Amino acid sequence: MPFSITRAADLNSIQDNSKLYACFYGSSPFRESFAFSDGKKDASINIAWSFYVLKTGSNVTLIDTGFSDENLASKWKLKDFTKPERLLESLSIDPVKVNRVVITHLHFDHLNNLPLFTHAQVVISRQDRDDYLAKKPSGGMVYNEAVAVVLRDDTRTHVVDKMETLEGGLIFEVIGGHTRGSSVVRFSHAGTRYVLTGDECYLCANAREQRAIGVAFNRQANAAFLASIADLATVILPCHDPIIFTKFPSVKPNVVRIF
Ligand SMILES: [Zn+2]
Repeated sequence: MPFSITRAADLNSIQDNSKLYACFYGSSPFRESFAFSDGKKDASINIAWSFYVLKTGSNVTLIDTGFSDENLASKWKLKDFTKPERLLESLSIDPVKVNRVVITHLHFDHLNNLPLFTHAQVVISRQDRDDYLAKKPSGGMVYNEAVAVVLRDDTRTHVVDKMETLEGGLIFEVIGGHTRGSSVVRFSHAGTRYVLTGDECYLCANAREQRAIGVAFNRQANAAFLASIADLATVILPCHDPIIFTKFPSVKPNVVRIF
């Protein structure tokens, strides 16, 4: 059964027996000024490309999907490119059995594999859903009609205007700093707070050093979000920080377990 949406505001603690994995599907150079608004245009850093999988009992939620298009992988110079479905296979997850896919924003590396998850409920901000369907240009927006088919289907796709607590205790919050509808997912687990930042943080350093991202629709909104996670107790989980894959224990090749 797919998850249904609840609006209860107090369900922000997810079940103790949940497991959260980060999946790494490649790495590449990235312009420092894209990652940090004060970064150098002619300097390059190394980034990871990743997404997250939350398992609670037999329920599987993905936070972003990654992409499997080899042309995009070579365009963005990905090294060690592994298709996300191979990583899911290593975790014994069949894409058609994934219950829910939460999309942080409309960029290709966050939603291009959406059509693989034929039975999943999809959650995305109304703004980014509408911008995607309207083909509004935004850096990293690569229109894919198969993705649009899913986003257009109201029986599959649930849109959030500002903030909503999803079944299971995930808080989906629209920030609007990176893209117009860019969102994050917050929750607590076993007494620790976590935030899955999408690209509101490219790297943990955006939060730790309070340095705004370089690719921003609204820098003020991004800075306000970074200020909201400045406390050291919150575990920051971005999609592009290689440190995630050395900081947490590896359970399969290119997969680490956060908890
Ligand atoms: Zn992005």
